[in-house]
Amino acid sequence: MYKCELCGTVSAPRTPAQKVILQTRRATYPHHQKVNACWKWIGDRRRFVRTDDPGGVGWECAREALVCESCAKKLKSNGLESLPSD
Ligand SMILES: [Zn+2]
Repeated sequence: MYKCELCGTVSAPRTPAQKVILQTRRATYPHHQKVNACWKWIGDRRRFVRTDDPGGVGWECAREALVCESCAKKLKSNGLESLPSD
């Protein structure tokens, strides 16, 4: 049992809850030098090396809600749950 965070109704017992994303934001992660420690084969020997983290850009969840099935269907039909693509 849970209370829907959008319509406020309490669900029937043993009803699965849906987690939906309401808002996303753009995230950028900077490049870091020599942060990933690993062993690599270089020639015929294994060497301990530290590789760079390339960083990057993407989308991350800013706001999500635990909702009932009817609210999740409504959000899906409105297209609010889909993440922006690029
Ligand atoms: Zn609801």
